[in-house]
Amino acid sequence: MQMEIINTGSELMLGFVLNTHQQWLCRQLTDIGYVVNRQTAINDSGAAIDEAVREALARADVVITTGGLGPTSDDITRDRIAKMLGCKLREDAEALRNLEDFFQRRHRRAPESTRVQALVPEGAIVLQNAHGTAPGLVMEIASGRFRQAGGGSLLVMLPGPPRELRPMFTEQVVPLLKEKCPLPSEFVCRVLKTTGLGESLIEERIAGPLRELTDAGMDLGYCARVGEVDVRCAGFGQQGREQTEAAESKIRELLGEYIYGTGDDGLEEVVVKLLTEQGKTLAIAESCTGGFIGNRITNVPGASAVLLAGWVTYSNAAKQKCLRVNEATLKDHGAVSEAAAREMAQGALKVSGADFALSVTGIAGPAGETEEKPVGTVFIALATKRSTTVQRQINRYDRETFKWVTSQQALEMIRRAAMAR
Ligand code: ATP
Ligand code: MG
Repeated sequence: MQMEIINTGSELMLGFVLNTHQQWLCRQLTDIGYVVNRQTAINDSGAAIDEAVREALARADVVITTGGLGPTSDDITRDRIAKMLGCKLREDAEALRNLEDFFQRRHRRAPESTRVQALVPEGAIVLQNAHGTAPGLVMEIASGRFRQAGGGSLLVMLPGPPRELRPMFTEQVVPLLKEKCPLPSEFVCRVLKTTGLGESLIEERIAGPLRELTDAGMDLGYCARVGEVDVRCAGFGQQGREQTEAAESKIRELLGEYIYGTGDDGLEEVVVKLLTEQGKTLAIAESCTGGFIGNRITNVPGASAVLLAGWVTYSNAAKQKCLRVNEATLKDHGAVSEAAAREMAQGALKVSGADFALSVTGIAGPAGETEEKPVGTVFIALATKRSTTVQRQINRYDRETFKWVTSQQALEMIRRAAMAR
């Protein structure tokens, strides 16, 4: 099954809008077993649309376009495609009613120019738009029309606004795809999320032992992001299922504790879930991350079962006042030190009464480094009633990346400690 996506919009070419449809649609399709072979983004020019759609229809079973179905002069996808296919446009009564209702509900009169959106190519399946005014369109292109080999194609046209495109795709396009283009064999994909090892190290550990499976056709991929690496195993049908299952147990054996989750799991979700299951609580004392770790934790629904308190103690005075850090510690070792991190975590533990208390203190940069503490130096401490451990890391990045990487290390420290209990 060959699938292609064409995103139209001059705003995409100018860099004003991030092309999220590309990623979102690919992900939705992957999750139900379809694989996209090619993605194209083009500007709102008639010639570009003609060329891209014609070429895609010559290759693919399914072509999905996004954008350009609205009422303004730059919304030309529907007209260009109808013309290219030699289809007349007709006014769709339901689309017109939907459009008028849309304006009426907002106590507005539909401007005359908006009526153009109710025009649909003859023969098209109309996808009514519950969240906007332009319907989506599906056209079945006969075999032999654009493709020399293979059967016909399905051409799906979706509106540009994400809040219109997404429900339309999920509710209307997915059932249609399953009916018109059933999959010959299911696509199976397993993603293991890791943190703490770089992608080359991961590959070194697992590529050899998995060679038999990859030689037999299983797809093994790595997606490295700052602070984490995803390992992806994929295949088709029953064989793919067996291969990915075998690969997963091998990878778990080889990477062990470095795997923190699967699929879309975030480290913060895993930590909240783990502590909730254990009935344990957490407090967080942050300096250089400015509340970012607390932010990540509180993004998880149900975080209130776990997080008791968080502090952003940026100044020395705040570290002393809120967390009972000793003045002498700050004077002798500095605020960015193992000793300060230790006292911050222990103070947070005492003041909050939590089971785990985490602290971070570091130099995000670009200024403020010393010879023994370069930019990126960070101390992360985790205190429990029994002991306190401190890690020193050097995360030399821009400030935002520094916060992200540090939060990954800190969350991982909690996860490991909770697992070890
Ligand atoms: P409208 O009726 O709003 O004009 P439309 O179907 O004509 O809808 P476009 O004009 O192409 O769609 O896009 C409308 C808006 O939708 C864009 O300004 C942009 O904010 C968003 N959008 C369009 N394409 C994308 C995309 N690929 N990724 C993310 N957002 C997009
Ligand atoms: Mg538009």
